[in-house]
Order: sequence, then structure tokens, then C-alpha cells
Amino acid sequence: MKIIAIGLNYASHNKEMKRTFESEEPVIFMKPDSALLKNGKPFFIPDFSEEMHYETEVVVKISRLGKNIAEKYAHRYYDEVTVGIDFTARDLQRRQKEKGLPWEVSKSFDNSAPIGKFVPKETFSDIQNINFQLDINGNTVQQGNTKDMIFSVNKIIAYVSKFFTLKIGDLIFTGTPAGIGAVAINDHLEGYIENEKLLDFYVK
Ligand code: MG
Repeated sequence: MKIIAIGLNYASHNKEMKRTFESEEPVIFMKPDSALLKNGKPFFIPDFSEEMHYETEVVVKISRLGKNIAEKYAHRYYDEVTVGIDFTARDLQRRQKEKGLPWEVSKSFDNSAPIGKFVPKETFSDIQNINFQLDINGNTVQQGNTKDMIFSVNKIIAYVSKFFTLKIGDLIFTGTPAGIGAVAINDHLEGYIENEKLLDFYVK
């Protein structure tokens, strides 16, 4: 399986990143399957970064094989959602950006993609209007609503599938809203969609 992640998909986050332009197409990057962290296992901060940031994101799971999927049919290609963290070694990413180099070392390293428990997308009446949030040590640090996505889930699926065949089990991280920040050892991360806690793990 593969993990496709969307960058810069919320205007509020783009502002905090001091992006002055909006991309006309989704910004995409990938994480390998070795990036997955599941079942509440702890995340160990790797020693190559001094600035490990959480990015809380709604994650959708692909349920059908597809290529060149039309936007109007895209809703048929995913069936479950959860909340996940797109861990980013911000210091490394900054260095890569300065040199014009790809982001992978800063975003796609082992265990950089913790995911919560999946729930059927029908749990929610409108996938483009769900609240999600991250609490760290009991304090809410990041909150978003999928209605604020620049590119909707269906638009993302249509765009991504032009380049990459989507397979059953592939995951799409749909971007983070404002409120990113650093994690520290012993932090307790809890991710919610609406009032349901789907993600729960510790940083070690
Ligand atoms: Mg992200």
C-alpha cells in the first residue's frame, strides 16, 4: 500500500507557513508503508530532528481500484475515515526547501504516519463538514473542519488518480489546518473526529 499526503490544503495553515500563493492543483507527496504507525504504538522522536511537528489530518482509506477517477465518482472509491498525524521534521524540511530538494527525509521516515481507528464514512452525514482535533496532554492544540479544505476529498482523488493508480488500502492524508507545533517526549496525543476519539498514543 501507499500513503498519499496533501500539503497546504487549508488556507489557515498556509498563512501560518507564510505561503503567499495558493497552488492551482493539490500539492502531493508520498509516504511509504514503513511510515505507518498503528494500534496506539508510541512514536519515538528520531535523533535526526530537533523540531518534530505534529500535523493533524483527516485520513481516508481507498476501497476500490481506480485510475483517472472522475470527481463525480470519487466518493465511490473510499469507504472509511480516521484521523492521523503527518509527522514532519520541520528543521529538516526547512533545509530541504532552502536547497530546493524533495521533502521525503523530513516527512516520510519510519513511523511518520500514525493513524487512528477507521470508521465508516457513513458515520458522518457530510465528509466535507466534519470537525477534527488533536489534544496533547489534555489540551486541544489543533482544530479543523473539512469544509475548509482548499481541495475536497473528491477533487484530491480525481487529481491523484491521474498520476497514480489507487489501490484498495491506500491512504490519503488530506492536509492540516492551522495550529501545528512541536511534540516532546512523554506527550500524550489524542485525535478526535467530532466527539469520537480515534487516535491515542504517546511520544517517547
Ligand atoms: Mg501535512
